[in-house]
Amino acid sequence: MLPNALYIKKGFEKSIYDGHPWIYKNAINRIRGKFTPGDLVEIKDWRGKFLGIGYANPASYITARVLTREQESIDEGFWHKRLKRALDFRRNIGVNTLDAYRLVFSEADFLPGLIIDKFGDYIVMQVLTLGMERVKDTIVKILIDLLPVKGIYQKNDATVRAFEGLTLEDSIIFGEVPEKVVIEENDVKFCVNIAGGQKTGHFLDQRCNRILLKGVAQGANVLDAFCYTGGFGLNAAKFGAKSVLGVDVSEEAIRTASHNAKMNEVDEICEYEVANVFDRLRELEKEGQQFDVVVLDPPAFTKSKKAVEGALRGYKEINLRAMKIVKEGCFLLTCSCSHHISWDLFESVIFEAAKDARKTLRIIARGGQPPDHPILLGFDESLYLKCLLLEVS
Ligand code: SAH
Repeated sequence: MLPNALYIKKGFEKSIYDGHPWIYKNAINRIRGKFTPGDLVEIKDWRGKFLGIGYANPASYITARVLTREQESIDEGFWHKRLKRALDFRRNIGVNTLDAYRLVFSEADFLPGLIIDKFGDYIVMQVLTLGMERVKDTIVKILIDLLPVKGIYQKNDATVRAFEGLTLEDSIIFGEVPEKVVIEENDVKFCVNIAGGQKTGHFLDQRCNRILLKGVAQGANVLDAFCYTGGFGLNAAKFGAKSVLGVDVSEEAIRTASHNAKMNEVDEICEYEVANVFDRLRELEKEGQQFDVVVLDPPAFTKSKKAVEGALRGYKEINLRAMKIVKEGCFLLTCSCSHHISWDLFESVIFEAAKDARKTLRIIARGGQPPDHPILLGFDESLYLKCLLLEVS
């Protein structure tokens, strides 16, 4: 038994009992013992019935995260078991043979606050909570034990760390990590800028959705809006697109996208521009430009519930503009990566945009997260990526 415990208010225990790993500040009835932020605590219902063990941080609105619903020791053996389970799972679903994949997807891999991506022989980890920060060195030690890895980089620059009272840090934590690593995904080569890129360096979560372009890219003029390092457009080029125009606001991303186009020997048909997509879509419409395929893969316009309305306006605006520059009977691939925007909400905002643009839409495919980003039922927060391939007429 641990010396510290959090007792949950009556009525708030159900979701935790059913597997939701977050304990919000307002769900806590009382605290037994004194703990330092980051310490392990037992989680009990209001009567004292054991619900699980987690780590706590009173500085955060998510005051505790459940690690286990069993009575067990949270020691090196525990972390080893959890990481091995994440690895075995990737083996069981056949993604471990890929050059690059997500190895640990936080709560959905029963390792709350930890993201690990593998790029060839290198690993990039993001530690998002104080509880995880405390065991970071143990995690690194186990990773080296479990995998042939040349280097591990900690990309701890996510602003959510501030909610946990953690500073931002960005450094090599084991071995040697080059500034750039080349990976292959869907037969396309990408240069991943580990230290200077966004998030862990490459958006692995769109791997399967990029393939949705296969049926529609042949001979197409493609606009890849919010292209980052060229993910969708380069796949389209491989699938036989006639031309690709990539747009992103980040100069660094556009530099890498152009480099990636060269590396894949499709630079003759790919053009990249640094621009704000909101402005560029309006300009393209004014210029009377039309595309066979438009891809919209914006960043999460909202990271909080409060900002949903503003985000919906953003989604509506870009989708409406995009629909106007898609040729009659051609295609729009549109995405949302905010978990605050549900599938229903996403589809309804796309429909609203279509009505305003006087367009008719048919859904050809719905895409979500690839298998290395599993969705934990009972934990809605693990479902965030939605992708629609639409015919626009
Ligand atoms: N489609 C990419 C991932 C996109 S991530 C892929 O397949 O890899 C979102 C991108 O949107 C980031 O590269 C970011 O720099 C860019 N971005 C954010 N706001 C933008 C804006 N207003 N205009 C253009 N690009 C923007």
